[in-house]
Amino acid sequence: MDFLRTAPHRRLNPLTGEWVLVSPHRTERPWMGQREARAGTDVPAYDPDCYLCPGNRRAHGAVNPHYPYTFVFDNDFPALLPESEGEKIDRDGLMVGEAERGICRVICFSPRHDLTLARMTVKDIARVVGVWAAQYRALGALDGIGAVQIFENRGDMMGASNPHPHCQVWATGALPNEMAKELASQSAYWRAHGSALLVDYLRLEREAGERIVFENDHFTVLVPFWAVWPFETMVLPRRHVGAIDELTTEESTALAAALSQLTIRYDNLFETPFPYSMGFHQKPTDGEAHAEWQLHAHFYPPLLRSATVRKFMVGFEMLGSPQRDITAESAAARLRALPATHYLATA
Ligand SMILES: [Zn+2]
Ligand SMILES: [Zn+2]
Repeated sequence: MDFLRTAPHRRLNPLTGEWVLVSPHRTERPWMGQREARAGTDVPAYDPDCYLCPGNRRAHGAVNPHYPYTFVFDNDFPALLPESEGEKIDRDGLMVGEAERGICRVICFSPRHDLTLARMTVKDIARVVGVWAAQYRALGALDGIGAVQIFENRGDMMGASNPHPHCQVWATGALPNEMAKELASQSAYWRAHGSALLVDYLRLEREAGERIVFENDHFTVLVPFWAVWPFETMVLPRRHVGAIDELTTEESTALAAALSQLTIRYDNLFETPFPYSMGFHQKPTDGEAHAEWQLHAHFYPPLLRSATVRKFMVGFEMLGSPQRDITAESAAARLRALPATHYLATA
């Protein structure tokens, strides 16, 4: 297994069937540990121009309530509409198109414009987890909704339009690509082994230990063996469970604590509010049991070496396969060694 540390190699992502090229010999280049000035203190608690802050007016005239914790509303500019209709087209399998129905919502995590998950209390994050569970259940129960995708885009670098802490929920008729790939892989594994792919994978990771960032009583956070982004992580429940709404109260709190701890470590890495796209993959809501599915979250952060030096997916990565220099093992070691208290709290 020594080649995993020293020689160029590729690793398979068993969830998607895709490969990542790893080039550990290139990280022997010295790392300058460049740091920007401590960032994250210049955002106001309330912004009169923010369309997510309490009491403010949104597009089309709606006014936000003075919400004390969380706030959910239908996206004013939704990518999907509930009543999209049209005849499916299929020209010799070469030009295929069909209408897609869906619902897009926004969930504000907090009335405070300046907070992030990393700076919210575990108790307040647990309220957000409760809203995720309720939204997954309510949207998933609607006729014709096959999947509920909860995701957060954090930071300018990820194209997030507003620093106010919030996420989105897109409920779709069809399974999106990533879900479809993961369903196919998890189903095939279930048929072959009679157990869940990610449950067995987590057991291997806990035996190995070197890619684990931290654990609490019910969740493990790790850098997956096949990670593409430099500090990519997965959040995995230790019990076999398909969706957030199946978690016990204690498990929901443990999930909130894991998200708090992970986002604090991310912010501490370069002492900057850490940009990322994150989201939960929960079992499809097509009415099937989906025993093969294991709930998990992916965090995909773009930063590589500092608050401003990011990874780009270009060149060989666009045309061939993704590639990384820093190994999953050394990324996990870096994250594991970071302080568990937020840098702004200790400033
Ligand atoms: Zn705001
Ligand atoms: Zn996934």
